[in-house]
Parts: sequence; C-alpha cells; structure tokens
Amino acid sequence: MKSVAFTSDAKAHDECGVFGIYNSDGLNVVEICHDALYGLQHRGHISAGITVNNAESFYTQKGLGMVSEVFPPKSVEKLPNGMIAVGHVRYTSIQNLDQAANQPLVLRYKEGSIAIAVNGSITNFPQIRKVLERGGAIFQSNSNAELMAYVIATERCSTDNLEDAVINCMDKLKGAYSAVICAPTRLIALRDRHGFRPLCVGKLRNSWVFASESCVFDSIGAEFVRDVEPGEMIVVDREGFHSYKARVDREKTSMCLFEYVYVARPDSVIDGVSVHTARIRMGEMLYSEYPLDADMVCGVPDSGIIAAEGYARASGIPYGMGFMKNKYIGRKVGTGMDKKKRLMQTKLTALKSNVEGKRIIVIDDSIIRGETSKHIVHLLRSAGAKEVHMLISSPPFVSPCYFGIDISDRESLIANKLTTEQIREEIGADTLGYLSVEGLRKTVEGAQFGLCDGCFTNSFSADIPSVFFVDKYANKINKK
Ligand code: AMP
Repeated sequence: MKSVAFTSDAKAHDECGVFGIYNSDGLNVVEICHDALYGLQHRGHISAGITVNNAESFYTQKGLGMVSEVFPPKSVEKLPNGMIAVGHVRYTSIQNLDQAANQPLVLRYKEGSIAIAVNGSITNFPQIRKVLERGGAIFQSNSNAELMAYVIATERCSTDNLEDAVINCMDKLKGAYSAVICAPTRLIALRDRHGFRPLCVGKLRNSWVFASESCVFDSIGAEFVRDVEPGEMIVVDREGFHSYKARVDREKTSMCLFEYVYVARPDSVIDGVSVHTARIRMGEMLYSEYPLDADMVCGVPDSGIIAAEGYARASGIPYGMGFMKNKYIGRKVGTGMDKKKRLMQTKLTALKSNVEGKRIIVIDDSIIRGETSKHIVHLLRSAGAKEVHMLISSPPFVSPCYFGIDISDRESLIANKLTTEQIREEIGADTLGYLSVEGLRKTVEGAQFGLCDGCFTNSFSADIPSVFFVDKYANKINKK
C-alpha cells in the first residue's frame, strides 16, 4: 500500500466544545458565548476563543489557556456585540499543541468571511489536504477547522450559495465533526453523518443556540430543543431556522460511547440519554457483573463518583468519600505528558480517616496506560485500606480513537500488553473488574442513534483513516 505524506501524528486529535448563537432578541451574544464556554470548559482546557459578527465584520479574541485566562475580567467587553457569535474550547495532547489551530478560525474568501469552530477528527484529512495543496493551497495549521473552511471556500466557487457548499463539504469530509460556522448573514451548525460527537440546539427567547452539550443551555437560561441529527445541517438566518439533510446512512450512526463514560458533563442529555443516569447505571451494572463484599464504595473524582454511587445503591454497601481533590492545582493537560506530571494532575490524596482499616471498592471510569489506577491503589493502601477492589465503568481500552478522543497510541494501552489478571497484579489491587461491552451498551439503552464502541472492540462502523492502514496494526482493525 502506498504511504501518504502525513503521518498519524501530523494532525491534532482534539476533544473540543463548540457554541453558536444567532441573535433575534437584542441579546449580548458575546457575554452569552463567554458564559457558554465556561459550561463547556470540561471539554477543553488548552485554548478558548470567541468570534462575533458585527454588521458582517468579524472580531475574534482567542488564545491558549482556560476560558478565565483567555478572557480576564472585563476583556470580553472589548468585543463589540453583534448578530452572531461562535465559541470554542480545545483540548489536545501537549505534543500536538499548535497555536495556529486555536479556534474559532476566521477565513476570508471571495464571498466574505467565515468563522469555524469544530469538535472532532476528519479522517480523510491527509488526502483532502494533499489535493488542495496540489492546487496551491497554503495552510497555517493542522486543524480540522482550517481544512473544513478551505473545502467550503473551494466548494463555494462552484455552487450558488453557502448552504450547497457546506453540504458538498459534508459529502467530502469523512470522520467525526460537529461544527458551528459564522457566516456574514447566517449561523450554520452541522454534525457528521455518523454523529460521532454530540451537538444540540436550543432556544434562548427567540434566539437559536447550538452547543456541544445540553448542560450549557441550563447555564445560559436556554431551553433544550433537540439534538442535531447525524448528517444534518441547520442554518439560522433572518428568515428563521432551516434544516437540511446530507446523505445519511442511518444504520451506521455511531455516537461515541465514551462521551457517556468520561467526556461529557453529567448534567448533559445526549441523544435522549442523561449522562448522569447512564453513569449511575454503569455502577449498577458493575454490581451485577461483580457483586463484591466490602465496607465502603468510593469513586475516583470526578468521573468515577457517579458510577460508585450506582454501585453503592445496587449493592447496599455504604458510599463514602475516598479521596480529596485539590481544586487549586492547575489544569489537566492530558495523557500525552510525562508520567510524574500526569499523576500529579490527578490532584488526589486519600482520605485516611475514611478508608483506614476498611475493605474498599474503588471505581474509576477507565484504564488507559494503567498509571492512574496504580497510583490510586497505592494512595488507598498507604492510607491504611485493608483491601482495595478496583472496578472500571468501561471495558478495557484496546484501540486508539480515530474520531476525536485524545487516545492515539496503541502501544501504550495497557490492555493490549497484559491480561486483566496481569493488570490487577501490576496496579496492586485485590480485584480488578471491567464493565463488559454489552453491559456498557445496556446503560445507554434508549439512545436515539447507533453507538461507537471501537476503542473497546477494535471494530468501527466508519472508515479508519488510511494513514493508520499503513501502520503495522492495519490488519487487526475490524470493520463492522
Ligand atoms: P491512565 O493513567 O493512562 O490509565 O489513565 C486513566 C485515567 O485517565 C482515568 O482516570 C480517566 O479518568 C482519565 N482519562 C480517560 N480518558 C482520558 C482522555 N482522553 N484524556 C485524559 N484523561 C483521560
């Protein structure tokens, strides 16, 4: 097979959050967008930004850091108010830190300006980019947003309107993308045909809003209307709300299961399923798969806590706090950093007075390299726990994610190197149990669309990027 110019590392693997608002009420869209980004902060700590469209002139403020760092007090006031605003928070592994990829990305082309904010990972990125570069395109970054903007601008040369250009772009781009686009007179929201990443629509008085997660609507006082459907493009303009369907293969919709396990905020509802309810069920399901006896159940803050509550409810074993989390240690930077820093960033100490002398069941959401679990078991044992039984509210991670979750290095996944019994020994726990794939799927029963469990099964319903096919694991990846 022929090799391609870009390696799998060339493109950022981003987990992000997006927001967009079209003002029909004389609202302050900049303030609302700013508040919304706080509600999405858990989806990205690396960079934040807002673009506002004021009488078709675009103003952007963005930079590296948390929302509070990029927008220090009173700084949002420097942006003028406008008709449309889009916002973005980005989370990428530290090796892929590429400042030019901070979003929203504003591009000027023959029809005016567009600002784009994207969450996801375009899997035919290298091929599309190569074709564009052969035609003379110059890129500033390796971001999905820039590629998407470029394809839209190119398509616009052969279409009568922006809507057709975006639909054509959706036909060309493969993989995962939920995006908002600010155009001179329109706000556009789109979700890839598989629906890998969430995107929903809400109403704030008469104004339409879009966000990666519904929790944002609660924080800005908007009402949840519905999820953007896989393969749907929604356009909001002076005439109102217009929905367009790209060509969708409904059977292959594959919303990311890991959003429910780890990524999304518990107060979000994604495709009809509450993230909090799903996590409670994960704990209950863990109890039905591992009915252990112990003195206390605790969760690893933050994402293991709710599953621990579910396990405690189902088992009748008291729930207790096992850890203190230091809120004042800086942001979490991801799995790409060195081991010592990563463990420091767990920000945890064991609560000795609550765990000493007890048989503890501790629940975390996932094991990737195994370092966190080893650290957690060590913390509990050092604090005097008599037994430590570790349960995980997801199955073993056996594959990188090609569709937007920052887990890209197959070699580092401990479940690919060791059996569950060997991992138990390695992390020093008395018991180690993972939730089964079937069990996890049951916890999100009722979701409107199909689900992607590829990171747990090595089987994907969408095409894997061809750059990965040239790697030595190509023949191990299954296609559903
Ligand atoms: P590890 O120490 O490599 O096994 O990482 C496991 C821990 O990383 C768990 O406690 C998870 O909460 C957390 N985690 C899971 N997915 C991600 C991700 N994509 N980025 C950063 N941390 C993650």
